Amino acid sequence: MITQRQLFFEHLAQTSEFPLALEIDFAQGIWMHSKETKYIDLISGIGVSNLGHRHPKVTAAIKNQVDKYLHLMVYGEFIQSPQVVLAELLAKSTDFVLDSVYLVNSGTEATEGALKLAKRYTGRSEIIAAKNGYHGSTHGALSLSDNDFFTQAFRPLLPEIGFIEFNNVPDLERISSKTAAVMVETIQGEAGVIEPSNDYLKKLKTKCIETGTLLILDEVQCGAGRSGKFWAYKHYDITPDILTTAKGMGGGMPIGAFLAKKEVMSCLSHNPILGHITTYGGHPVCAAAAAACVKELLESDTLSKVEKKGVLFESILLHKAIKKIRRKGLMMSVELDSFENLQSVIQKCIEKGVVTDWFLFNNISMRIAPPLIISEAEIEFACKLILEALNEVYG
Ligand code: PMP
Repeated sequence: MITQRQLFFEHLAQTSEFPLALEIDFAQGIWMHSKETKYIDLISGIGVSNLGHRHPKVTAAIKNQVDKYLHLMVYGEFIQSPQVVLAELLAKSTDFVLDSVYLVNSGTEATEGALKLAKRYTGRSEIIAAKNGYHGSTHGALSLSDNDFFTQAFRPLLPEIGFIEFNNVPDLERISSKTAAVMVETIQGEAGVIEPSNDYLKKLKTKCIETGTLLILDEVQCGAGRSGKFWAYKHYDITPDILTTAKGMGGGMPIGAFLAKKEVMSCLSHNPILGHITTYGGHPVCAAAAAACVKELLESDTLSKVEKKGVLFESILLHKAIKKIRRKGLMMSVELDSFENLQSVIQKCIEKGVVTDWFLFNNISMRIAPPLIISEAEIEFACKLILEALNEVYG
């Protein structure tokens, strides 16, 4: 009989020639179970399952909504309770500074919406992004990548895109009164967890204010509690003009959003009307799941424990092969010496039952970003397996 594995390779479009190809039967908390064995998800499905897999409050919200209605109408027309509840929660999470929330389906769509909003609001067209940043894979978002390897085959991309080096203050001079927006991740993810240092974000914000440029912060990966605060920007004493989110805020369902002040956001509704539209943005089932997830993250004690858990990881992961650990909350990058060795360690970890990964723009560092609800005992167990794998690869 033809297997699911064979059908996967036959009929599902592949994104690389070496997919992980684990066949998961069910998942709960930090665990993903196959028919034969179980794995610790130490990357949260790439920054998604911040509350773990199938958090009971999230699944209850989904079940409740499924019994009421699924899609009713394109985004923006009907008053749908899950969208309203979610929007208020997200606005509240910014202390109502960014009090208008546009719901979309994914991170890359949040980027597209944010870019369009900045162009429309400022009447300018230049966008500046950071080198080694990642904002999504659709044409507009991909235009914000300086990585030729990933972009060359898809050119031409958006014109008038400039690049600055993250954390480089002299580079801020590149921002001018022609710049509609600067878009950066608050903490760079795919670069391998790079934190802003020396008040970089404050200096960036000051330059944006001086030039009338909007600051767009991408918190698709570092937001929703990953850094130990609900929004990572709250560590750095600034507020963006536009904020993007997706992944972790959906509780495992596909949803994203961009947030801005109402005065900024309102320009998408006139000249032209329907400045940004989406059929499924804020799908009621996804919005219900996201609202339950955001509420839990904001109101439970989960976030208050994140930093301590991050410290525990660092205190156990001591090995001669580890060159450096970069970390904010439970967003971690463990740097080794080569891609080949990292690949072997990741493979060995999977054989032992722990799933990690590398980063798009940093292939010598191991990604560790577990569900935030991981327990201290589970951290100790996962680290033990990683250390065993390191010992086997490095001798
Ligand atoms: N921004 C950042 C910082 C991301 O990490 C990602 C996804 N890795 C995206 C945007 C794009 O999100 P999505 O894959 O949902 O389009």
